[in-house]
Amino acid sequence: MKPHNFSIEFFPPKTVEGTEKLRVTRAKLATLNPKYFSVTFGAGGTTQQGTLDTVVEIRREGFDAAPHLSCVGGTRESIRTILREYQAHDIRRLVALRGDLPSGYGMGGEFRYAAELVEFIRAETGNWFHIEVAAYPEMHPQARSPQDDLSNFVRKINAGADAAITQYFYNADAYFRFVEEAQKLGVTAPIVAGIMPITNSSQLQRFSEMCGAEIPRWIRLKLNSYGDDNASIKAFGLDVVTSMCERLLQGGAPGLHFYSLNQAAATTAIWERLV
Ligand code: FAD
Repeated sequence: MKPHNFSIEFFPPKTVEGTEKLRVTRAKLATLNPKYFSVTFGAGGTTQQGTLDTVVEIRREGFDAAPHLSCVGGTRESIRTILREYQAHDIRRLVALRGDLPSGYGMGGEFRYAAELVEFIRAETGNWFHIEVAAYPEMHPQARSPQDDLSNFVRKINAGADAAITQYFYNADAYFRFVEEAQKLGVTAPIVAGIMPITNSSQLQRFSEMCGAEIPRWIRLKLNSYGDDNASIKAFGLDVVTSMCERLLQGGAPGLHFYSLNQAAATTAIWERLV
């Protein structure tokens, strides 16, 4: 089953070669006809221009695009300036986040949480933007408890978010439970499942550790058993992630958001397998 609500995430390239490579990736992924592409935003504004440039380029190619906007380290004035710039480019979608500054930077800035950013965006720009926020079926790593994290998520929706995209996960049950609990608290906004294709074992395990996504033991053991055999890792990853996408869609997930890491092959392979 192929979902109508299907989006693909990129990060803004830092080099000329990266920009060129992303153009090639994008041309391949454009043939899948996603609803929109999104482009991440380095916390503290480190990729501000790169994010905007990439979004503008995607829109020029005829696709909808959403810049991410993280508020950590930002001031009301700096965020206001970014919002005006996005409006001047007629950008209508945003993914609103708190972000994480590198350790040692503290939090800084005038916003503590993404809910405050959403509230500010609505106060400044009314309904101009369609706003997505982040959701964590396996709990955000800094949350006090799953219940607390869920209440904080509901707060973001009540502050004016239209929809949510989850952190990636490999436990479909965690997603279904999170959605059910959010709905019991009155959330009607779609909660789109974030999908991380598995293409590399050590990088995925390192990254998952940081962002609090669990790799189930049986998946981790299988990946470890393949060692440097990248072809087997990719084939296994494709099977596992495609099956999970099918289960999510059959269970009512309103859409899929692919963390492409600026690569076309894995997202395309999963998409083509979804019938
Ligand atoms: P919040 O919703 O503010 O939550 C952060 C933590 O604070 C949670 O533990 C929450 O439970 C807690 N909390 C919230 N409100 C309160 C409150 N009132 N009192 C006490 N505790 C509270 N990062 C980037 O830097 N750039 C990106 O482009 C980016 N894109 C992302 C896209 C998606 C789809 C996802 C899932 C994550 C993305 N991230 C990005 C990572 C994200 O910034 C981090 O996970 C960050 O740590 C939390 O951001 P948030 O918006 O979920 O924060």
